[in-house]
Amino acid sequence: MDIRQCKRCKKLFNYTNNILCPECIRLMDERFKAVRDYIYENPNAQMETVCEETGAEMSDIHRWLREGRLILSSNTAPLLKCKVCGAPIYTGQMCDKCTNDVRSQFQRTADALKPPPEPFPTKREGRMHVEVRKK
Ligand SMILES: [Zn+2]
Ligand SMILES: [Zn+2]
Repeated sequence: MDIRQCKRCKKLFNYTNNILCPECIRLMDERFKAVRDYIYENPNAQMETVCEETGAEMSDIHRWLREGRLILSSNTAPLLKCKVCGAPIYTGQMCDKCTNDVRSQFQRTADALKPPPEPFPTKREGRMHVEVRKK
């Protein structure tokens, strides 16, 4: 058995792929639904009001937004900031532009990590590798 300490209430619980104990998961779930429903009914509500009305904490709302579980209507001011350029965003970690940048950066890194071409020409795949890299 794998016993862990709940990240939130510090109680020990039987680990099930979650950092929170079942009780906290249930509580968070209820909070999440309350917030989601409240925002659905009051799309223009300020987040402070949402917290007051639902008992959720601002950090919860931020987390749900980052996880993409909660999506605010475009009537509300974006709560989150892109962690790269600081542009206001509605959901996730980064704005669209930075997401694309990181994606192409990642692609370049992945290319760089590929094993280098074999140093000597081989005919293994019926292709010559000679001089390819000097272009
Ligand atoms: Zn807990
Ligand atoms: Zn950005």
